Amino acid sequence: MVLSTWDYGLRTNEVAWRLLSQGGAALDAVLAGAEFAEMDPDNAYVGLGGFPDRDGIVTLDASVMDHGYNMGMVAGLEQVPRAAALARAVMERTPHTLLVGDGALQFAQEQGFETMNLLTPSSEAAWKRWLETSRYQPGVNVENHDTMGLVGLDAQGRLAGVCTTSGMAFKMHGRVGDSPIIGAGLYVDGSVGGATATGHGEEVIRTVGSFRVVAAMTAGKSPQAACKQAVEEIHRFFVRRGVDWGDTQIGFIAVNLHGETGAYALRPGFSYAVRTQDRDELIRVPSLLEA
Ligand code: ASP
Repeated sequence: MVLSTWDYGLRTNEVAWRLLSQGGAALDAVLAGAEFAEMDPDNAYVGLGGFPDRDGIVTLDASVMDHGYNMGMVAGLEQVPRAAALARAVMERTPHTLLVGDGALQFAQEQGFETMNLLTPSSEAAWKRWLETSRYQPGVNVENHDTMGLVGLDAQGRLAGVCTTSGMAFKMHGRVGDSPIIGAGLYVDGSVGGATATGHGEEVIRTVGSFRVVAAMTAGKSPQAACKQAVEEIHRFFVRRGVDWGDTQIGFIAVNLHGETGAYALRPGFSYAVRTQDRDELIRVPSLLEA
């Protein structure tokens, strides 16, 4: 089975399912789904055509983790659309876990990854519209994010997850969110389950969001109850810190080794897609707050 964030997840699931249904490995399947989104110039939230930072530069972040606690991450990556595959290459072909910026690009070039201008006419036009006001509003709400996170479970009971993004639209150059940070944007425990996050990256990092979900599953919660508990805990942090969190959104999706899935968000508007032998559906995610 495979689950993916957002409405677009129906499409990434279709790609991942093609491999899973033929006995493919969860890691290959989620990577194929992520790459499909990254190479779609019309998806403005990941890879080619992702919204740039406030200086007009597209920088990508991605992470990958498998059932054996192997992980790879890239952050602040320029010119290389296949950020998730590069994270996998960090995992499999280096003794390290995280490469950033110029070093990540240099490694990509050494590994033969294709480079290109990631700014498309439409993402450039969106940036120029933003420049008219240049209002720096580093928030994530219903309209401006669509990070792709996928978690797959293959026929051999192996889990794998991936999270890929161009991050917050028009962010500061160098800003990195939760998506490439294992424990925050993604976490997989091959003996329990996996979870991935979308939404306001700073808050997901602050609260080690995806690990929190997997830890709740480890303690016996269902994926649904684990996602809900994590969102409730994060909300309590917000209240305790006394910060104004505006209209910020946070959402998690999770799956356990029994193939049970769940998702929960701070606010309405989040969705996720599930694909199994008998299911191909988009699910509206319940939320803690009304709006
Ligand atoms: N989590 C991402 C970030 O903060 C944003 C998103 O979910 O679209 O970079």
